[in-house]
Amino acid sequence: MPGRLQNKSAIITGAGSGIGLETSLLFASEGANVLLVDVNVKAAESVAALIATRYPNVRAIAVKTDVGVEKEIKDAVDLAVKEFGRLDIMFNNAGIMHPKDDHALNTEEKIWDLTMQINVKGVWWGSKYAILAMRENKPDPERGLTQGGSVVNTASFVAIMGAATPQLAYTASKGAVLAMTRELAMVHAREGIRFNSICPGPLKTPLLMDFLNTAEKRDRRLVHLPMGRFGEAVEIAKGALFLASDDSSYVTGTDFKVDGGLTSCYVTPI
Ligand code: NAD
Repeated sequence: MPGRLQNKSAIITGAGSGIGLETSLLFASEGANVLLVDVNVKAAESVAALIATRYPNVRAIAVKTDVGVEKEIKDAVDLAVKEFGRLDIMFNNAGIMHPKDDHALNTEEKIWDLTMQINVKGVWWGSKYAILAMRENKPDPERGLTQGGSVVNTASFVAIMGAATPQLAYTASKGAVLAMTRELAMVHAREGIRFNSICPGPLKTPLLMDFLNTAEKRDRRLVHLPMGRFGEAVEIAKGALFLASDDSSYVTGTDFKVDGGLTSCYVTPI
């Protein structure tokens, strides 16, 4: 059976940990060549080594890239096109949640700016250079390749609902990702370039668990989760695979929620 991403090439940002790591493994297992982007290049290299062992039929290249620097994203996209011949999938997933991000009165401007630089400008630039690369994609029916491509941007459940445990810059940045992605989807729909956001619920990844470092902090959240548990990164990767693959060929501009029902919840089951 050919994989769901056979012959495609993908960039995954934040590929060294959490959602990015699981998505890189899943995309490779489905036949995609993957460019693994992370500011922590050692982590990305470990993922590339894992892919080389598990899925020797695809290529995985790790590259040190800070998504908050436009030139570095451009270089990463250029590298993917040079090495793989084209770019079919861009997963703009890297993001930060700064420990000093707080409510309106406590959040310093430099924390706000850093969060926006990575979480918003990083997604803008990743989308921008993906568009330029995907415009060059010619249909290749024999290899199952179409024109255009699929861009998936990681937002968050906090873009949809407010929390009384604030991280104002992070929440605002993820709202921007949702709004930006919808507009990108409309502007580029006729070019065959699809844009969707994925909205994870709270997950058991370092990003959240480093922050929720006491049972009390975790319990404050768990009571609001309909399924009574945090999500797993691989559960988001499976959503990203659907949006990246041709299975979602008529899906663009969505806020795709993989949140265990959190954003539909008023009262949780006892
Ligand atoms: P993670 O911390 O496990 O992994 C993030 C990866 O991104 C790390 O490898 C890190 O080195 C990399 N990274 C950070 N800044 C970067 C930069 N400037 N350039 C390139 N790489 C960079 O986090 P995760 O939980 O997998 O989160 C991935 C995405 O999912 C983020 O956008 C996050 O906001 C979002 N998200 C996470 C949760 C959650 O509960 N974990 C919930 C909703 C949304």
